[in-house]
Amino acid sequence: MDRYGSPLYVYSRTDIENNWREFDSAFGDHPHLVCYAVKANSNIAVLNVLAKIGAGFDIVSIGELERVLAAGGQASNCVFSGVAKTQVEIKRGLEAGIRCFNVESAAELGRIEQVASGMNVQAPISIRVNPNVDAKTHPYISTGLKENKFGVDIDDALVLYKTAQQSKYLSIKGLDCHIGSQLTDVSPFLDALDKVLGLIEILKNQGIDIEHLDLGGGVGIVYDDETTIDIAAYIAAVLKKVGNLEIILEPGRAIVGNAGAFITKVEFLKRNSDKSFAIIDGAMNDLLRPAFYNAYHQVLPVRENAQGIESNWDLVGPICETGDFLAKDRVLSLSEGDYLAIMSAGAYGFTMSSNYNSRPRVAEVMVSDNTHHLIRKRETIQDLFNTEILIND
Ligand SMILES: *Cc1c(COP(=O)(O)O)cnc(C)c1O
Repeated sequence: MDRYGSPLYVYSRTDIENNWREFDSAFGDHPHLVCYAVKANSNIAVLNVLAKIGAGFDIVSIGELERVLAAGGQASNCVFSGVAKTQVEIKRGLEAGIRCFNVESAAELGRIEQVASGMNVQAPISIRVNPNVDAKTHPYISTGLKENKFGVDIDDALVLYKTAQQSKYLSIKGLDCHIGSQLTDVSPFLDALDKVLGLIEILKNQGIDIEHLDLGGGVGIVYDDETTIDIAAYIAAVLKKVGNLEIILEPGRAIVGNAGAFITKVEFLKRNSDKSFAIIDGAMNDLLRPAFYNAYHQVLPVRENAQGIESNWDLVGPICETGDFLAKDRVLSLSEGDYLAIMSAGAYGFTMSSNYNSRPRVAEVMVSDNTHHLIRKRETIQDLFNTEILIND
């Protein structure tokens, strides 16, 4: 902390690698590609570590594509998801040679065809279907129900595949679904699998062959004491049903979530008759999940403090919002100046951070083989407004 300052994100390279390998090795010899969902944590050092061990990537923007390429990843291992790909993004994806576009609507399929025809190339596509299963997760991260904006109705997918089949600028590669995030029960995944396998059968009868099935991400992690999905058992259950079909997965949170912690310092202790507040230097702009999803993160002292004040602390940040808390009601023994580790912060932590309240975004560090490396410099005050322009008058 003396070296890098506070607050700070810290990641473990070993944990990231082991988490990816757990998915990869569960497939054995079965054809597969484990595409890390870049949006969970897009630091190029994280992407580079994963590219080196053979990961593919699930990207949702041209920015993520360029990050993957800058990190040494291969476009041919990238699947491009997202509901609103622009012409520029599609063109760049085709130029770079991505593996597949996961198409989310008829309109988008039309746009991809148009861009591909302008370049006189064939665009590899997969239709993202919405299997209409309830992922039983937080409504903001549930994506597989009819009422969600993602994917196309499973009943409408056939029409899109027929359109694609007739176009000389579209090449059908796969079928895709992603039903939500932080799932802690495997049954919605298997229900979705049954539905998409039914569709693949229908397609086959119409002469449309699917080379790969992409089952998306969404495997949950342990934040508190929840029981979550056994990855090997999930993949074994999938392999039982899919014959020789190549399987793609897009895990994000499960790769990096528990491989990272957010470190923050106690600035002030403030107690009244009802409440004990520890005011910390980290805030909702640095780690949004508690404010946004009412998410729980474990809090551990970086060093045990036997001399501190023991109480039921709410950890609150300096931002002018009542929602600016990172944890509530935690029994801790604290003094001013203590450092706390907000655990399981490796996914959707830094990537969702902002400059709200003109707070520079924090530094990121990766621990690798008992050494630590700065992988993102802390922003400076100057960085906050150096792209802003005064009007002249
Ligand atoms: C967000 C997302 C993922 C990753 O989800 P996790 O819950 O982090 O595994 C994968 N695929 C798509 C299409 C997504 O939108």
